[in-house]
Amino acid sequence: MIPDVVADLRATFDSGRTKPFTWREAQLEGLDRLLAENGAELEAALAADLGKSATEAYLTEIGFLRTELAHVRARFRRWLAPQRVPVPLSLRPARASIIREPLGVVLVIAPWNYPVQLTFGPLIGALAAGNTALLKPSELTPTVSATIARLVPRYLDGVAVVEGGPEETGEVLAQRFDHIVYTGGSRVARIVMRAAAEHLTPVTLELGGKSPAWVDGTTDLRTAARRLAWGKFLNAGQTCVAPDYVLAPPDVARRLEPLLAEAVADMYGPDPRNSPDYGRIISAHHHARVVELLEGSVAAGARVVTGGEHDGEAYLAPTVLADVGLDSPAMAEEIFGPVLPLVAVDGIAEAVAVIRAGEKPLALYAFTEDARTRRTLLRETSSGAVVFGAPAVHLAVPSLPFGGVGGSGMGSYHGEHSVRTLSHPKPVLRKPSSPDTLALIRPPFTGLKERLA
Ligand code: NAD
Repeated sequence: MIPDVVADLRATFDSGRTKPFTWREAQLEGLDRLLAENGAELEAALAADLGKSATEAYLTEIGFLRTELAHVRARFRRWLAPQRVPVPLSLRPARASIIREPLGVVLVIAPWNYPVQLTFGPLIGALAAGNTALLKPSELTPTVSATIARLVPRYLDGVAVVEGGPEETGEVLAQRFDHIVYTGGSRVARIVMRAAAEHLTPVTLELGGKSPAWVDGTTDLRTAARRLAWGKFLNAGQTCVAPDYVLAPPDVARRLEPLLAEAVADMYGPDPRNSPDYGRIISAHHHARVVELLEGSVAAGARVVTGGEHDGEAYLAPTVLADVGLDSPAMAEEIFGPVLPLVAVDGIAEAVAVIRAGEKPLALYAFTEDARTRRTLLRETSSGAVVFGAPAVHLAVPSLPFGGVGGSGMGSYHGEHSVRTLSHPKPVLRKPSSPDTLALIRPPFTGLKERLA
C-alpha cells in the first residue's frame, strides 16, 4: 500500500538514521555498486524498452550516474559542512552559522526517455543530503521500472520504489512529501504542482520545450552539422536538451542541408534502421505524434532533406527538414523525436525575436565565432542554459546547475546544486547571556533613536 510505503520512509527519516554522513556514504556507495554490478542488466532493459544501444546507455545513463556519484561522494561532506558567517558589530558578541539539514522524504517522479539517469540522478542529491526517497519510474519503460524496483531494496536503505502510471502516481501525490523532483512534460507538471500545493511541498520541475540552435556563417559548418546531428538523433531525438530546431540565415541553412545528411549517414550508415546505434520511439502513440508533425510540416511546404521513412510503429529515420516556416506544425510544439527542422531567418535579430516569442527553452545552443552575436544571445534571451559550440554537453559538467526557467521548469540539480535543492539552509545564531548587550535596545527607548541615527 502506497501510504504504508511513505509512512515507512518517514519513520526511517524520523529515526535519525539517515543523518550521519556514514549512512549517506553507505547509500551512495550502494547505488554505485547497484550500477556497477547490474550495468549489463540495466543496459538490456534500456534496449528492451527504448532500443538504446549499450554504449549510449552507458554514456548517457549508467556511466553518467557513476561520474556524478564520484563527484558528489568526494565533496558532499564539504558542501554540507556548517558555514560560519559574520555577525554585525551591533549584535556582537554572537556566533552565526548556516547548517544544512535534510528535508525528510523526497519524491522523485521520472520520465521514460532517460529512465535510469532521471530516476537515480535526483536520488544522489537526496541521499547525500540525508533524506529518504520514494522513486516513481515511468510506466512507459516497464522493463527498466521493474529492474529498478527489484534492485533498489537489495542495495539501498531508506529508498522505496512505486511502479505504475497516472493512477498510482496520483495516489503517491496524495501523500505528504518534503520535496518533489518531477521530470517530464508540462501537462503533468501542473498536476504535480497542484497536488504539492495541498501539502505546501516545494517542487523542482525539470521540463522540456523547444531548445533552439542558432548557426551562422562564422562557424565551421561541417563540425556544427555533426554535433547537431549527434545531439538531435541521440535516443532517437527523445532528449529534453536535444536541439529542437535550427535557426540560420538562408545561405547557411542551405549549406547545412548536405552536411547534416552526411553526418546522419556517417553515424548510422545508409539505412539507419539497421544501425545498432540508432534508437526507437517509445510508443506507437508518440510515433504517430511525431509522424503527424513531420507530415503536417511537409504538407505546409517543408522539404525532406534526409530521412522521413518510418514503420508506423517504432522506427522513424533521422529526418532533416528544410524550408520550415514558423507557422509549420514542427514549430508548434516540442518535437521530442528524430526530426530536425531548418528555419531560415534574416539574421540574429529575427532569431532572437523567434526565440523570445516562445516559452523560455531548457537550452539555447549557438554555433558562431562572433563575440557580438554571443553577447546578444546571452543578453536578449532567457533559457535554462546556454551552450556555444555543442548541444547537450553541459549536462556532463557536474558543477553546473541543471534546470529550466519559466516554461522549461523551476529549480535545478546535479552535484552541489542537488544537495542545496534537497536540504534546508538553517541559520543558527548563538548569543551569550553575558555581556548583555541587548539591554541597549530594550524599552524605555529614551534617546535610543537619536543614538542610532
Ligand atoms: P512521462 O509520460 O514518462 O511522464 C513523466 C512521469 O509522470 C511518469 O512517471 C508518469 O508516470 C507520470 N504521469 C503521467 N501522467 C500522469 C498523470 N496524469 N498524473 C500523475 N503522473 C503522471 O514523460 P513525458 O511527460 O512524456 O516526458 C516528456 C517530457 O519531459 C518532454 O517535454 C521532455 O522535454 C521532458 N523532459 C525533461 C527533462 C529535464 O531534465 N528537464 C528530462 C527528460 C524529459
